[in-house]
Amino acid sequence: MRVVVTGAAGFIGSHLCERLIARGDEVVCVDDMSSGRLDNVIALKESSRFEFIAHDVTSKIPVAGPVDAVAHLASPASPPDYLRRPLETLAVGSRGTENALRLAHRHGARFLLASTSEVYGDPLVHPQREDYWGNVNPIGPRSVYDEAKRYAEAVTSAYRRTLGVNTGIVRIFNTYGPRMRANDGRVVSSLLVQALCGEPLTIYGDGKQTRSFCYVDDLVTGLVAMLDSDEAGPVNLGNPQERTIAQLADLVREVTGSAPPVEYHAMPQDDPLQRRPDIGRARALFGWDPAVGIEEGLRRTAAWFASRPEELASAVVT
Ligand code: NAD
Ligand code: UDP
Repeated sequence: MRVVVTGAAGFIGSHLCERLIARGDEVVCVDDMSSGRLDNVIALKESSRFEFIAHDVTSKIPVAGPVDAVAHLASPASPPDYLRRPLETLAVGSRGTENALRLAHRHGARFLLASTSEVYGDPLVHPQREDYWGNVNPIGPRSVYDEAKRYAEAVTSAYRRTLGVNTGIVRIFNTYGPRMRANDGRVVSSLLVQALCGEPLTIYGDGKQTRSFCYVDDLVTGLVAMLDSDEAGPVNLGNPQERTIAQLADLVREVTGSAPPVEYHAMPQDDPLQRRPDIGRARALFGWDPAVGIEEGLRRTAAWFASRPEELASAVVT
């Protein structure tokens, strides 16, 4: 297959590209490097089956030659990133998704949208199944991400219904692992980096809010299964092991063998109180189930950060 991956130089995108190259696919990486890094794909550039195009997908995507599949991952993903770039986030979720869909339509290619558990907002149904419509504040600060992704799902579904594009939607729940940026402001990277640097662990609110954390390798297995299928979705992809943020902080202490104090900060506006995927659909369709538990995943991620002292030193922890 020749697969175009938008957002390929980012955290999840680079792992996806690696998996596709490893199985023999050709990969065209399209990324504007707004939160991506050359370092994430530098090893892939050695492969003759990997091509890199520096491009903002809110403009027509300039890919020549055949395209069998488009995996659309381009978008800021960490809350500090999308709150810093609200208009760009809306643009990439709307115009960017339309351009990626047009590319798939032109080539008769499979289209995969990386949507998010954020479409469920602050969920009133728990755990979240795909038939839950969500509880999103459409004018709050997070709406630039949540509503952009909801629009992306809507336009993807319309391209399938109206133009017959073979589209698939996955809703990704909190994913972590090597290649997260030390200063991206997400909870796993922030707490690990703080613990490794002996700084206080920042907990927003009382730490009783929950998330369910999926190791990146497991996520990529689910992404590839969806890419290879003709399923429309949406399909939740995440690890249903749910933890409070306070429990996560304890695990981080355990895994890093350090005992920094906790520093409590105000809870951000509209921060969801609970989140856990029902993954029954992914299990039934693909036999997919995450294999890496949180302790093991945190250990691997901590080891990765620990082996990069420059990254740790440069981290401005929020
Ligand atoms: P990331 O920030 O590491 O990667 C996003 C990539 O998209 C970056 O390389 C960035 O440079 C690129 N990009 C952004 N805007 C672009 C544009 N206009 N044109 C071209 N490239 C652009 O984030 P990630 O964690 O790897 O997330 C990847 C995708 O998965 C995103 O769509 C995100 O919404 C989705 N997702 C991630 C998570 C998670 O926990 N990491 C959860 C739910 C959904
Ligand atoms: N969070 C925290 N400390 C941090 C960063 C985040 O307590 O240093 C909280 C945040 O308020 C949220 C949870 O951890 O309740 C997950 O945050 P993250 O940004 O990783 O993901 P998202 O909110 O997008 O699920």
